[in-house]
Amino acid sequence: MTYFERRGDALYAEDLPLAQIAAQLGTPTYVYSRAALTQNFLAYANACRAHGRGDGGALVCYSVKSNSNLAVLNLLGKLGSGFDIVSGGELLRVLAAGGDPKKIIFSGVGKSEEEMRLALSHDILCFNVESIPELHRLNAIAGSVGRQARVSLRVNPDVDAKTHPYISTGLKENKFGIAFEDALATYRVGHELPNIDVTGIDCHIGSQLLDDAPLLEALEKVIELADQLHANGIHLHHLDIGGGIGITYDNEKPVAVADYLARLFTRIDRWRAEKYGGAPISIMFEPGRSIVGNAGVLLTRVEYLKHGASKNFAVVDAAMNDLMRPAMYDAWHGVQSVHRRDASPLAYDVVGPVCESGDWLARDRQLALEPGDLLAIMSAGAYGMTMASNYNTRGRAAEVLVDGDRFSVIRRREQAQDLFALESIVE
Ligand SMILES: *Cc1c(COP(=O)(O)O)cnc(C)c1O
Repeated sequence: MTYFERRGDALYAEDLPLAQIAAQLGTPTYVYSRAALTQNFLAYANACRAHGRGDGGALVCYSVKSNSNLAVLNLLGKLGSGFDIVSGGELLRVLAAGGDPKKIIFSGVGKSEEEMRLALSHDILCFNVESIPELHRLNAIAGSVGRQARVSLRVNPDVDAKTHPYISTGLKENKFGIAFEDALATYRVGHELPNIDVTGIDCHIGSQLLDDAPLLEALEKVIELADQLHANGIHLHHLDIGGGIGITYDNEKPVAVADYLARLFTRIDRWRAEKYGGAPISIMFEPGRSIVGNAGVLLTRVEYLKHGASKNFAVVDAAMNDLMRPAMYDAWHGVQSVHRRDASPLAYDVVGPVCESGDWLARDRQLALEPGDLLAIMSAGAYGMTMASNYNTRGRAAEVLVDGDRFSVIRRREQAQDLFALESIVE
């Protein structure tokens, strides 16, 4: 079910007309639906429970980088979510949002000493380590603070996720993970280190995957490695299968989370039954986009219509600094008029005010527009606000969370003074 639907000529978020948010708060504004976030998280949690992975048998660690607003983190935390973080900043965010440190896993290729110290001081659940030097650094720091660091090694299964090259991470040539053929040797190194407790395998092959075949192919490699490790006296507590399930931006048909998890758990159960007398192993997931992507839109207003010789432009008040995905990945987002007009549409490029030709949000869309109209840029909940910048000294958009027919401001609009408050002039 989608929570951004038209009633009559007006576009709604849940039971609230989007125009009402724009009237009260202005634009550009990110609008998230609480019901959509909840539904998308529960698709994972319920599938885990349906396959006998209630308490402790599975953990969904929401990928914070996809949308890190405190209210979003708090809501997901209250639903039982863990968190996959990629920086010390994200750790502090999760804690500020009331997240449980025992459910935090720390991913990323470049963890600093300071970030490791911070994470160890909160005794997070697990570090996803991506190299031998990182293992040594983590061992030394854990020793210096008198802690054991629980570790998964992120292995690179060399499967093709068949997604955009910028968001594909599981191929040999990617900077991510430990090459599959080096995995056993790397596990041995970790196993020998006194302050490292090797507890799992981690694998994340890419983002916006529509088919689960590459994920299940990666699972086969992970199972094979777990068996090898077992034979070498290294016994694991969990498998972390990563995130990556895609969403519908246009007419894509991503695999349903429940179907993917059913196939995955069936395979894992069969493996455990055949080899380990049914002994359980905990399963972790790191979904981002599939939880927040379709739970948010970017609300923007048309400033000007320009009818050029070969193109029509709708110049809107949101720009590439607010939503970077089109400029960065050539990404396609749906565009809907908040109030549908009874006029014949024209083909428009929807562009922002930033001084770059790459500043476009959508191209060649059939829209009936007047200056001042509101547009909703659809499916903007993931990698929207978190990738926003202040380019052109543009304050970042406000964010609101809709619940039924009401909304709460969950981030106020940035003012120009906020943007240069940390700067100083020298004599
Ligand atoms: C970005 C990322 C994710 C989330 O990916 P989605 O495609 O948003 O589900 C999960 N794990 C890691 C390590 C990531 O970098």
